[in-house]
Amino acid sequence: AVPLVVAISTTLGARNGLLVRDRRGLEEARKLDAVVFDKTGTLTLGEHRVIDTVAVANVDADDTLRLAAAVERDSEHPIARALLASAKERELTVPGAQDFQAIAGHGVQATVDGRELKVGGPALLRKFDVQPDEALREAADRFGESGQAAIYLVEGEQALAVFAVADAIREESYEAVKRLHDNGIEVAMLTGDSEAVANAVAKELGIDTVFAQVLPEQKAEKIKELQAQGKRVAMVGDGVNDAPALVTADIGIAIGAGTDVAVEAGDVVLVRSDPRDVPRIVALSRASYRKMV
Ligand code: ADP
Ligand code: MG
Repeated sequence: AVPLVVAISTTLGARNGLLVRDRRGLEEARKLDAVVFDKTGTLTLGEHRVIDTVAVANVDADDTLRLAAAVERDSEHPIARALLASAKERELTVPGAQDFQAIAGHGVQATVDGRELKVGGPALLRKFDVQPDEALREAADRFGESGQAAIYLVEGEQALAVFAVADAIREESYEAVKRLHDNGIEVAMLTGDSEAVANAVAKELGIDTVFAQVLPEQKAEKIKELQAQGKRVAMVGDGVNDAPALVTADIGIAIGAGTDVAVEAGDVVLVRSDPRDVPRIVALSRASYRKMV
């Protein structure tokens, strides 16, 4: 016969978009002190997007994104994909472009609505001797400090706008962090990325503890450091690199859309890949096991 707790946790899990691989994971969740999230692909989409746009005075920011996306229509570059995806997500109509040409290592150019436009990074500005105005310069500096790429839209010799292109935070991550905090649980983030990028994401989400520039083989060590402070720790991750940390943690929670290696290392798998399902696991565990065992 299937033990009662197994049956309960399997049913509860299935109803809540969770694949429970080890029921102890679900049971232990009610006693958690800290949740450690991997950054890329877990708290963020793992895909680049335009996360901020600053245009010169009297020019509409969405209009500059629409034009930049048009210039990038035929480019395969990841920056081009970011601009096009963001324009689409903002439901902007991207016009057609003529005379498209890549400017290797600098950007792209094309004619849109009869306007001769270029899109590219700082090297493009230098190449064509374009001086952005103060508002754009300040924005670009700010983007750089957060580890975001500054990409410009240029018409003739004038920079019309600067876009911050970076890995975008999942909308659901904000609520996930907040709900864990509401339950008195510390939230940490673990990433191989730079301090600048890590701190910008952590600040945006209100994360308590940041471990940046962590090499893949050190991820499990950071979990052990928290456990050595007497904390019961859950790790949430999606990558091959996260597997040892998932196994080391008191509860390993894998993102369903992540790699097979991570999924197999998890006690619980988030079938919907939604970080809000982490606080949901805690709530479920508290409601289900309080009176049992
Ligand atoms: P990488 O993208 O690896 O840095 P590239 O030679 O492809 O190297 O591009 C160098 C820089 O030129 C990019 O960082 C970016 O600033 C700019 N760039 C290149 N292609 C594009 C593009 N399609 N759209 C916007 N900027 C581009
Ligand atoms: Mg990842």
